[in-house]
Amino acid sequence: MNFKNLTIVDIHNKIKNKELKVKDLVDSVYENLKAEFKSNFLVTLIENKNSEKELQELFDENKLLSAIPYVTKDNISTKNILTTAGSNILSNYFPPYDATITEHLKNEHTILLGKASLDELGMGGTGLFGFNGEVRHPKDSERIAGGSSSGSAYAVAAGLVPFATGTDTGDSIRKPASYCGIVGFKPTYGSISRYGVIPYAPSLDHLGFFTNSVDDAAILSDATFKHDPKDFTSINNENEFYKNINNLDKKTKFGFLKSVLKYFKEDLKKDYLNLFEKIKAEGFEVIEIDFDEKLLATIPAVYMMISFSEGVSTHANLDGINFGKREEGKDYKDIMKKTRTKNFGNTVKRRFTIGSFQLKKENQEDLLLRSKKIRRLIIEELTKVFNQIDILFLPPSLDVAPTVKNILGTDVEERGDHDGIWVDDILELANFNGMPSITIPFIEKNNLPIGININAKPKNDLQVLQAAKFLENLIKNSKRGDSHE
Ligand code: GLN
Repeated sequence: MNFKNLTIVDIHNKIKNKELKVKDLVDSVYENLKAEFKSNFLVTLIENKNSEKELQELFDENKLLSAIPYVTKDNISTKNILTTAGSNILSNYFPPYDATITEHLKNEHTILLGKASLDELGMGGTGLFGFNGEVRHPKDSERIAGGSSSGSAYAVAAGLVPFATGTDTGDSIRKPASYCGIVGFKPTYGSISRYGVIPYAPSLDHLGFFTNSVDDAAILSDATFKHDPKDFTSINNENEFYKNINNLDKKTKFGFLKSVLKYFKEDLKKDYLNLFEKIKAEGFEVIEIDFDEKLLATIPAVYMMISFSEGVSTHANLDGINFGKREEGKDYKDIMKKTRTKNFGNTVKRRFTIGSFQLKKENQEDLLLRSKKIRRLIIEELTKVFNQIDILFLPPSLDVAPTVKNILGTDVEERGDHDGIWVDDILELANFNGMPSITIPFIEKNNLPIGININAKPKNDLQVLQAAKFLENLIKNSKRGDSHE
């Protein structure tokens, strides 16, 4: 079974109308995952041992997600199932509990069939730096899938599962979604509990989903947005997303940043401007917005300073003492040093080193605190943007997925510095202020996808999903139109 053109509702209806048995669905997905396992997109393949009857009983007419198979990113805890976060140091870690998101999805009777690969500890944007090997683009193995949620993006883009979970600290859901031609949704900060998720940088970490349609992202939001007392940053942001997905307010104002558009290549710019014309033709306003470019140019630095510092401090517990891998040594310090030296990869070590440098007392004020202040200024500027418009366009990527050969320069801390280089990291804006942000498929170049990303004011998740649904239709219809010409 391939899910590329099947929504969650389609699968639900097939089971309901007795066209599809849950057992056959699960067997088919399992076989397909197994056949692709060599592509490294999974760390663990999970066999479901339930009987045919037990599986069929999971189906519930009142739960759209019941009996739907999925894979989850391997930094999300699954009770008694290996959870590595893509790192060798956790390659023997079986959590004794489920993350809250795992529990919510279990309550909906979904069927978990795999743990998806990621760049180690979520640090990276390529999919090349997980401990279990590289994950490449599902359509072209010379190219990257993007990361850090590379395995999840791969699984959905290859049509192996209808949805997958992801985490997003900088753009780790929304950029791979663009490269792989699928929907990637990161809701408002705190909407989905982070409890039980191995962090990267807690003030920037979000959970979200990869799907084949905006409807499916809405269905998953209905199931997982819940206040959780176990996560002190959790918020109450529930809504009836799926039910209201088609009710985009006719007065919705769209906008884009002038200072971003000027860095587009001509053909991409044309595609964006064409889309804006089509939106206007539907009766909406599309407004050009000014945003201080000096502030935008700080995005990569602010991201690195904050995320590397938070990253090194949250992972102080990966020390070989309490859990995870341990290298023997003469005392506890020696154990820690040997364990961390042997079991972390280069990206993590580099980020930890930079993070520790900033956390040194003498550097804190000058580096870390200054970054936090700039983050605040950026947030204030974004608040002003949303006084003028409702929906903000951002480019998730300026081109198709890069080739592995050209990969140098795609990881945030390895990138050089030239005019407009920050555009590559523009999606991090949504991690700074926690606004809901979704990438949907947009255009294709030589058969490879490029997505488009939209954002709304924090907590306006319904609005961003409604706008995404509207654009999804508009883009699909105009593709149909083009092919008739
Ligand atoms: N590209 C970002 C990075 O390398 C994204 C990471 C993330 O969102 N987890 O850190």
